[in-house]
Amino acid sequence: MAAIVCGRHAELRVCPQCVARPRVLPSRAQLKPVRASKETAALDLLVFSDLDGTLLDHATYSWEAARPGLERLGQLGAGLVLASSKTAAEIRSLQHEIGCAHWPAIVENGAGILWPNDERAGQPQGGTDYARLRAILDDLPTPMRGEGGFEGFSDMEAARVADLTGLTPEKAALAKTRQHSEPGLWHGDAQGLEAFLAALERAGVHARRGGRFLTLSFGTTKAQAMAQVVAALKPKTTIALGDAPNDLEMIEAADHGVIVHNPHAPPIETLPSERHAGTIRTQLAGPAGWSEAIVHLTDGMITTAPNAVKEC
Ligand SMILES: [Mg+2]
Repeated sequence: MAAIVCGRHAELRVCPQCVARPRVLPSRAQLKPVRASKETAALDLLVFSDLDGTLLDHATYSWEAARPGLERLGQLGAGLVLASSKTAAEIRSLQHEIGCAHWPAIVENGAGILWPNDERAGQPQGGTDYARLRAILDDLPTPMRGEGGFEGFSDMEAARVADLTGLTPEKAALAKTRQHSEPGLWHGDAQGLEAFLAALERAGVHARRGGRFLTLSFGTTKAQAMAQVVAALKPKTTIALGDAPNDLEMIEAADHGVIVHNPHAPPIETLPSERHAGTIRTQLAGPAGWSEAIVHLTDGMITTAPNAVKEC
């Protein structure tokens, strides 16, 4: 995408247009920044965010570059719901690092919701969904599994998960404590993948491509889990951020969507909501882009927020 050249917006580097029209820079009014309500509300803003490649750097998993945006959410008293393919155990650990463990989180691509004070996050690998999924994989023909086919996390030692993901061995072990879904790699050719996906579909298993892995589940999505959280917390406004195809329904469902640039993944096609600037794209990748988008979208709230608190 070409760089934004307008002097007024050069520092923002947030392009609200699709990749097909990268040089067209709309006005601030067209970008529709979030406005604070005049009422003193319990929850004006709830932010849903993907992790890998979005709030976390694709290579280092650091969220440091997102600090300005996180601090903005804290100033506003806004909620932050992490929404990822990661397990409950991984996300709980991250929530404590970031300071948002008092908000719910969407785990394993929407297959589960981790509510505050839910101690099931520490449960070992297992659960009905995961056991059923593994049984279906075990029943597939040999060429569809292993070195020439699908290699899931359950087929891997924690050290291999660590090698593939760049996670520490400890965090890779948490990534293997699955309850609902199975991420993995396809090692075969395109024709074999087509047959694999068809076999999964016949068994009622859905496959979604995230930024790094092909993740198998029984079809719940981040957007479905998001709807449950919205119904429970009733925020006035929602923002959703993500970088991959499995984030798009969540982004489209939010009042304000943000596609965070990921130079390591294929480009994402134009979304319907981009045509009226309901969704914007960042030019910076990962947490830096995340932060710029949050700061930009909440500019209209910061001067009028009635009850600022310190944690997001
Ligand atoms: Mg991602």
